Amino acid sequence: MIVEGTILRGRAFEPIEGRVVVENGEIAAVEEDSVDSDAIVCPAFVNAHTHIGDSIAKEAGEGLTLEELVAPPDGLKHRLLREADREELVAAMVRSLSFMKRSGTGTFVEFREGGVEGVRAIRAALADSPLQSVVLGRETTDAMEIADGFGASGANDAEFQQERRATRDARKLFGIHAGEVDSSDINPALDLDPDFLVHMVHAESLHFERVEDSEIPVAVCPRSNLVTGVGRPPVEELMKRTTVALGTDNVFLNSPSMFREMEFTAKLYDISARDVLRMATVNGAELAGLDCGLVEEGRPARLLVLDGDSDNLAGAKNAIRAVVRRAGADDVEQVILP
Ligand SMILES: [Zn+2]
Repeated sequence: MIVEGTILRGRAFEPIEGRVVVENGEIAAVEEDSVDSDAIVCPAFVNAHTHIGDSIAKEAGEGLTLEELVAPPDGLKHRLLREADREELVAAMVRSLSFMKRSGTGTFVEFREGGVEGVRAIRAALADSPLQSVVLGRETTDAMEIADGFGASGANDAEFQQERRATRDARKLFGIHAGEVDSSDINPALDLDPDFLVHMVHAESLHFERVEDSEIPVAVCPRSNLVTGVGRPPVEELMKRTTVALGTDNVFLNSPSMFREMEFTAKLYDISARDVLRMATVNGAELAGLDCGLVEEGRPARLLVLDGDSDNLAGAKNAIRAVVRRAGADDVEQVILP
């Protein structure tokens, strides 16, 4: 397969005119050439933090606090998840997965509620989806045995040492929410030496130092943090210290569109479109130990092709800014996932 257009090549997302040659699901070559195409070719997005099960509760919970919404075991989302029958839950997740692909996402890192059954349900939803998933089980230790790891709620909720040990023994991922509501759970989360942290809205100088020393990546979810009223993650400071990736968090609060998360982040913070695109692609891949997220020879061919001549994007002077700050699902021409 050959894809032509303006290619955002490599880690610099340097726009070049040319073609990407795909063979056996891999990028075999990226060639500079003059081509007759308005397409913009970039890596398919990696959504670094999702709760897809929340698809059963879209826009529920108006006016509730974060605790009332999501705190286990009796926050609204957990009640709704318990009440939903399995068929309904799987069907709702299928719809979200379909939307995620259509809006350019190729890979996502999921915190899946509901123990072993929860993990089985998302696997069922993924059965006919080309999306690449990293599913982290929750709530029971054995959930991680059939999942790709364990996703902990937060260090103030329980101990998690056993889950940390089990994931390490099994060479699986251990991720944990930290610093979402306040800073009290950040040090205990760091003490667990997780593979990655989520949120870090309330990180303070000692935490920045610990993150830098330990090189633990952070998934930030600025839209989610705004909706739940907990504040803004210190993205610029975190970027100076470690790998920062972008996630859309709970589906019931936010549409799982990486276009929306990117635009919001690029306009809320003083960071370049290039940095935001990196957060939405290769940084998420690295957070989860994956090799995708760049248009580069030898990488998996997980690509997003946009129509650079759509009504929305026609005439844009800067392809990276067009993708990050302006594009949306309607501009997607093709999502290539092996
Ligand atoms: Zn979360």
